Order: sequence, then C-alpha cells, then structure tokens
Amino acid sequence: MDDKHHQNSIGGREACLCDRTLEKDIQRHMRFTMGRDPAKPNRHACFMGLAYSVRDRLMDRWFHTQRSQYDTLAKRVYFLSLEFLPGRFLMNYLISLKMVDEARRTVEKMGFDLDELEEEEWDAGLGNGGLGRLASCYMDSLACLDFPGYGYGIRYDYGIFHQTMENGWQREQCDNWARKGTPWEIRRGEFLIPVRFYGHTETRTDANGRQYYRWVDGEVVMAMACDILVPGYGDGFVTNMRLWRAQSSREFNLDEFNQGDYIGAVEAKVLSENISGVLYPSDEMEQGRELRLKQQYFFVAATLADIMRRFKKLNRNFSELPDFVAIQLNDTHPAIAIPELMRLLMDGEGMAWDDAWPVCEKTFAYTNHTILPEALETWPVDLIRRLLPRHMEIIFEINRRFLNEVRTRQPSDSSLPGRVSLITDSGQQRVRMSHLAIVGSHTVNGVAELHSKIIREDLFRDFDTVFPGRLANVTNGITPRRWLAQANPLLARLINETIGPEWITDLDRLRELEPLADDAAFRRRWMETKRDNKKRLARYVLRKIGLGIDPDTLFSVQVKRIHEYKRQLLNVLHVITRFHRIKAAPGLPVVPRTTIFAGKAAPAYHQAKLIIRLVNAVAEKINNDPDIQGKLRVLFLPNYCVSQAEKIIPAADLSEQISTAGMEASGTGNMKMSLNGALTIGTLDGANVEIMEEVGRENIFIFGLTAGQVTTLRNGGYHPGTYYDGDAELKQALDSISRGDFSPEDPHLFAPVVDSLLHQGDYYMLLADYRDYLTAQESVDNAFQDKEEWARKSILNTARMGKFSSDRSVREYADRIWELKPLPAVELGEESLG
Ligand SMILES: *Cc1c(COP(=O)(O)O)cnc(C)c1O
Repeated sequence: MDDKHHQNSIGGREACLCDRTLEKDIQRHMRFTMGRDPAKPNRHACFMGLAYSVRDRLMDRWFHTQRSQYDTLAKRVYFLSLEFLPGRFLMNYLISLKMVDEARRTVEKMGFDLDELEEEEWDAGLGNGGLGRLASCYMDSLACLDFPGYGYGIRYDYGIFHQTMENGWQREQCDNWARKGTPWEIRRGEFLIPVRFYGHTETRTDANGRQYYRWVDGEVVMAMACDILVPGYGDGFVTNMRLWRAQSSREFNLDEFNQGDYIGAVEAKVLSENISGVLYPSDEMEQGRELRLKQQYFFVAATLADIMRRFKKLNRNFSELPDFVAIQLNDTHPAIAIPELMRLLMDGEGMAWDDAWPVCEKTFAYTNHTILPEALETWPVDLIRRLLPRHMEIIFEINRRFLNEVRTRQPSDSSLPGRVSLITDSGQQRVRMSHLAIVGSHTVNGVAELHSKIIREDLFRDFDTVFPGRLANVTNGITPRRWLAQANPLLARLINETIGPEWITDLDRLRELEPLADDAAFRRRWMETKRDNKKRLARYVLRKIGLGIDPDTLFSVQVKRIHEYKRQLLNVLHVITRFHRIKAAPGLPVVPRTTIFAGKAAPAYHQAKLIIRLVNAVAEKINNDPDIQGKLRVLFLPNYCVSQAEKIIPAADLSEQISTAGMEASGTGNMKMSLNGALTIGTLDGANVEIMEEVGRENIFIFGLTAGQVTTLRNGGYHPGTYYDGDAELKQALDSISRGDFSPEDPHLFAPVVDSLLHQGDYYMLLADYRDYLTAQESVDNAFQDKEEWARKSILNTARMGKFSSDRSVREYADRIWELKPLPAVELGEESLG
C-alpha cells in the first residue's frame, strides 16, 4: 500500500500519527522512540525506526479488523500453541504492505542497505522446529484468508537456544532475543489476568443438595498480554498473536512480608516470573518437569479467561459458546484447557456437568503431531493434584463418566476401558494427555494422510471404535509468502514475470508453470536463478564457517532437528561410502556434491549431539583430503533457524527427507524445498507420500521400506547384523567409524553410534534401508548430469506444490473443524472507523 492510499483510508477522525513519508517516520522514531540523534544514525537505530514505522502502518488496520470481528458477531478460532516460530518480521510486514521497494529506496537514501538492516533483527525463536513453524504458517494464512482468529502462546524471555560449535560439539547459548528490545510486541502492562497454582478445593452444598466447588489459596501469578501483529497479504486484514508473560502479583506472599522477610518475599515474586522464562528445548520428547506443566496451565488459564471475557460481552448463554468460539489444541501441550473450561463453566458460571460437557466437546479440537512414544505426554496424578487440585478432580470425573459410557456401549470388550482410560497405572498413576484431548474434543486430526491412517489404525484405534468419525486428517502446509516470496525473491520475480503474482495468495496458480518445463529458454533462466541462490548460500557459508563451496556442485541438503528417527546418520553413512569409493578409484569421474547439514539437538539428547560431532569429524576429514578435492564437500552449518532456512532452502538441489517410514508425522521442510525447486530423495513417510502423488513418481527419488514393511520387519524379528555381514560397503563405512578413522585422537569416540546400529537393535532401521538409499543416490547423480532433464523436474516440483499451501490447510480446518467463515472483505473506509 502506498502512503497516499494509507492517508486516505484512515479518514479524519482517527488521523494516523504517521508522517507523510516513510523517511520522516523513520527519523521521528529514531529520534523520539529510540532517543537517537538523527544526525548520527546507526544501522540498529535505522532498523528500529523502520520497524516501528511499518508497525504503525498496520496498527489502524488491526483496530479495524478487531472491530469488524466484534460488529459482525463472527465466530472466532483460538489457536493454542506452546510454540510459535515466526523468525523475523521486518520483511514479512514489508511484503504484506507491498512496501519492499519503497523501504529499500528510503533507507538507501539514508545511507543504509535494506538487506543489511534485515540482518539486524533477531529471530523470534519461540519454538523448537516443525510444530512451532507450522503454527506461524497457520497464523499467516488465517490473516491472509480473513479468518477471524488469534494465536495464543507464551512470550518466552529466552527462545530456542543459540547453537555454536566447539571442537565439533554443539554448545548451547541462551537466546536473549529481546535484549535490545523488540519493536514488534505491544505490551499491555495494564492488562493482567490472575492465574492460580497449588491451594485446595472447598465444597459447599446448597439447599437443593447441589454441590459447589471453589479453588482457593495457593499462589497467584499474573499473566500480562503481549500482542504481536500478524498481517494478511495486501488487503486490510491484520490479526495478532497474544503471548503471555508472567508477572508477580502484588499481594504475592504477603505473609512473609508481614513477618519481616521482605527480601524473601521479593525473591519469591521474582521466581514466579520464571514461568515464562525459557522455552523447553526438546523436540519430540517430553521431559515432565513441573515448570513445564506450570507453563502449560499458565498460558491456558490466561487464554481461556480472555476468551470468556470476550464472549461475555456478547450477552449470550454459555450453551452457545461453540457457536462463537472454536479452540484448536496444537498437540496435547494445551490439553489442560479441557478441565479448565469445565471448571470455568461449572464453578464460575454455575452450569451443571451435563450442560457444560457438550459445550466443551463442541468447542475443542486437537491436532496430534507425533506417534513417537517418548513424545506422548503423561503427567503424574500426584503432580497435577498438587499444582491444580480442582483440575485433577475434574479429570477423574471426566474419566469416570467416559469409562462408564465405554462399558455400556462395548460390554464385551473387558480390557477396553483400561486401554482408553485417561489414567495409566504402571506403578505411578499418570494422566495420558492425548486421551484427555481426544475425549474432550469433537475432532482429532493427524497432519498427513499416512500419519492420520496410523492414528486411526494403530495409535488411537480404540478411539476410532469408541468415537467413530472423530479421527480426521488435515495435511500440513506452508505459507508461500515466507517460503517463496520472501525467502526466494529471485525465483519469485522470475515466476511473477512469467505467470503474474496471483500464486502468492493462490498457490495452485503455479500449475501455469508446467508448460514452461518444456521451454529451453525458461529452463535456462530457472537454473540461473538456482545458481544465483547457490552463490548467495556459498557466500553465507564462507562468512559463517570459513569454508568455500562450489555452486556448480549438487547441493544436497538435510536441515531439520537432529533426531535418530530423521536419520541424519544414514546420510552420513552414504557420505562415507562416497568418500571410500573416491579413495578407491581417484581417477574415476564422479558427480561433484556438497552435502549440507544443519539442525539443533536437544541439549540432553546425547546420541543426537554425538551425531553432530560425527558430521563435523567426517567433514573435517573429507574436506581436507587432497584426493577428494572438487568431488565432495561436507559441512554442518551452526544454528539452524527460520532466517537461516530462508537462505539455505532456495539453494537446495536435493532435499533429504529420509526418516524411517511411519515416524515423521508430516514434515514441512520437505514442502519448503520442493516449492523452491529442489528434488526430493525420500522415504514413503509423512507428507512425502502426498508430495510424490502431486509431483509424479518420475520427479522424486523414493527408496526404502514402507511403513507397513517397517512394522512387519520389526514384529518378525529385525537383525541389523545380516545387513552388515551381507554388504561390503556398509561394513566398510561402519568399520571406518568404529576404527576411529574420523577420530584418530580418540578412536572410540563414535563407538556408541555404531553400537546403536549393530548391538542395540538399530531401532530406526538404517541398515535395512542403506543399500536402497545408495541406489537412489546413484539415480540422483545420473539425473543431475542431464541438466535439461533436471531443470524440467525442478520446474515441475515447484509447479505442482499448490496443495501444500497452508492456505489450503487452514481452509480445511475452517470448513471441517472450526465451522468458520472468512470475515466479509475488510474495507478500510471512514464509516466504521468512527
Ligand atoms: C520448517 C522448519 C522445520 C521443520 O523441518 P522438518 O524438515 O519438517 O523437520 C524446523 N525448523 C525450522 C527453522 C524450519 O523452518
């Protein structure tokens, strides 16, 4: 939007405080917001000035959006997630306001470069990986599609740790992302919601014999709202994420104060603010710490209070709540919302159980993100009882009623109640949060067809019988705004020049590129763009780790959290075999390759950290071997995060998506790379299956066991030793690791890696898939040598990614789960601004 339009659209009565020009705005913010003499601007001040100026331009649109939601009594969706991974905001805001060129010109005039200013911004890393990034893509699509809704989460002081390398080992540094202040959040210091912990419940019986419950005493912590704007694309729609920050309450531990322990009281106050201190850094792994449960309840309680406050303004009966409110639980992390809503409806609003429960069921829906057993949350009953005594009572009552119903409906299956119970009892009683989430929701969805099938037929099969139709699928998606328009401006420009820019909000339009796959001139421009992106990445790699890489080699990319099921180690075995082949026949021609790894390991996940150490050791040896020069390079880029992904993904030729079939629920990295013209080498896992269906079997490299074969093999007795004995190259690769070829100073360093495969059962079946993976990699080499054919496949990959837009995913949620309609087009006219 240009400034003139902006001025016109605001009208007279609520005049925008923006000056006429962006330049004046930036200067004003430098001067009055940053307190910096505009005669002596520096890069950071200019970044902040620009950031505040773009935020200003969204503010009135945001008020307007909020008012339209209120005025039209629109049903709203509340997306509850313990993680959001937005990355940087500046370009996202500029693109949505269509102000990139104007901003570039303006800051240039002031002596700065927009790309350098962009680098001033710290990523908002308030999530671990895929799950948090998905939440951010969905926020983007909600706004783009004019769906009334909000994201709710925690405003952590410290996001996902900053990863550095020390002698090849991962080191974690704390991510003080907002240290220099963040221009994006709007802190509402006056808007505080009390959240209780501990204490006990009191009951009272009225004249009619009805029991009333009250949760009293304990500690109260205040939740302070911090809003971050989320703009749609181009039009006026702007929504927000509301992230809660813990603040001590004023009356906190007054007793101690009265007894004269003033410092003790203040210390306790400070401790209570730890709740929003730090994001738990483990992906696909629950740690079961008390503070984690506190975080979950803290943000859920504040969010539900906010939802109720907004609902009460409508003056409706609480039985109508599901007509106005849909709540999506992003994994089980916010599942405590179910007993919390029951508590609010019964203890707060006086509803009877039988009236409150259907309201709950109709309001909630739950998304399952993983079938890994170590990631499924359970909490000890004792812990919940101590921290949230009223909720534990409610959970027991939900379970009692649910199991009664199960017994009535399926009396013949006597072990069914035990299998579906919300409580497990193997020594210690624990609450299964997934069962709570399923019982309290009207719809439960998996995140790719295969994953949803596994949920229905395996993980939650009993619930598919108890609640027919409750288990559904919504395949994940990614936002084309960030993952093509923003991350890959060169490709976006080429596409715009060829088919116009409509794909940005309608990704299926990329299909119009299909015929151009047969156009030699277009193929050349396509591959030139890829090469420019590879050069850009090469410069970044040189700057970051001092290693030169050749943009004319095949860039094979595996970037994602480091986890055994994702099998970075299989990729390493392939690289080692390549190395051995070159060493054995240095004269033979090879297809030169650069293998790129990046990703964080959970700080307590020792095997994953050892794999990082191994990648670095293998890289060190290979990159310094004169026989290998020009044929193979390996590197590990430290600190994978959203802004780094934006640099790596446009440069990928080959996307490594090689998890053990059945274990990756969906994946979204696979979609990002394919959208940017990389070809996938992958197993039939998660969304890879659907990517294959879309791009065509001939445009993807599929290998390995299927999910069904993995199960069969595991049940039939899997013997990794047979593969080792029967495959000389595999044996050589493993032996070279155990011998210490990559760690001469400490030959046994990597013994645990080999042990996990040969002596601990190779749970993720790397050895079973090794040979087929190598064969597939040979097909990749052959395909890459035919430049024209590769370019064709690359174009077709991009052209056929329409399905994987998060716009499609969010529409499916809205239609099938939330029963939500877009707001009528938001007109930024004077009339409703009064
Ligand atoms: C997309 C993304 C992920 C998820 O990658 P997968 O390959 O699906 O595991 C993780 N981290 C970041 C920073 C991402 O952008």
